[in-house]
Amino acid sequence: MDEPAADAQPSDEDRFSAIRRALEAEQEQLANQVEDLDHVENDALSFDENLSDRGTVAAEQGENKALAARLREQLDDVALALARLEDGSYGTCVQCGTEIADARLEAMPAARFCIDCAS
Ligand SMILES: [Zn+2]
Repeated sequence: MDEPAADAQPSDEDRFSAIRRALEAEQEQLANQVEDLDHVENDALSFDENLSDRGTVAAEQGENKALAARLREQLDDVALALARLEDGSYGTCVQCGTEIADARLEAMPAARFCIDCAS
């Protein structure tokens, strides 16, 4: 294990590599969820002929589309956060340029807005 001891003060580099790992894990998880949704949608389409309750299927497909759109937005946020880690601008608000609070970044590593701009 190369994890630092819990009481060690992490350097910025350690902190950023931890954030990068968290973002990459999130990216993979989101991509899997999007893929699962695509499968659900294809299954629903191919079985559509045999289903009596088309209204329910349509509603579910609508929900899946909304969910997929939200997942893709989150993926965009994660991709942007990773790009900003690379160019050194990570941790500042894309709108006003203020530093985003550490607590907020810990809770939402892909946050692109400071708390003021997000609200
Ligand atoms: Zn801001």
